[in-house]
Amino acid sequence: MPCAPHHASYSYVRQSIEKTHKWAYQCKKYHDSKDASCHQYLGGIVQGGMFSDLRRESALILKEMDFPFYSIGGLSVGETPDQMHEVLASVMDYMEDSKPRYLMGVGEPRDILNAVMEGIDMFDCVMPTRNARNGKLFTMDGAVRIRNSKYKNDDTPIESECDCYTCKNFSKAYLHHLDKSKEILFFSLSSIHNVRFMQRFMDFLRISIKEDRFLEFRNSILSKFYI
Ligand SMILES: [Zn+2]
Repeated sequence: MPCAPHHASYSYVRQSIEKTHKWAYQCKKYHDSKDASCHQYLGGIVQGGMFSDLRRESALILKEMDFPFYSIGGLSVGETPDQMHEVLASVMDYMEDSKPRYLMGVGEPRDILNAVMEGIDMFDCVMPTRNARNGKLFTMDGAVRIRNSKYKNDDTPIESECDCYTCKNFSKAYLHHLDKSKEILFFSLSSIHNVRFMQRFMDFLRISIKEDRFLEFRNSILSKFYI
């Protein structure tokens, strides 16, 4: 069943979370039973749309079921970044900080930075590969729109500090040409770079937390990406 849209009514979302909790209970019961032969972790997914009280209720009900980690679902469904941040901030205090917390379907650097600030540990998203296919390539200095004609004769890699296969072997001019020629190889090469960007971005983010300069890192990325 798809997530409730961000403009769903209170009564619709209330019915939805009741269904979610019923499913969570049944899944947990089966997962913990002798019949379940897998050894995977099963997480609880907090829902509640844009309604803070329903989010809190969902978090508390799932906490009672004692999952090894918790996810926040039903965000990144059309709401503004501020709305997403507001919902996150309202629910995080009700989610155990001794267990991993995972924000589903979020991958925009700005949203990752804001979510980490609230205490989120894990993410997943199609954003890096979807943007890559559309010619939006990420670097630590902001996005490169490879379709732009200024890259037609640019012999430098997308990002000189990047160690990915694409940056090690191909120039922006070649990628610009592949995209313009609608050559399918462009999808692979651009995706390789954007996925590697996300790994390097998260590495730098973790280091900034360890070195107690996360806010400085966040502000630096936001100023380069979202001017
Ligand atoms: Zn690269």
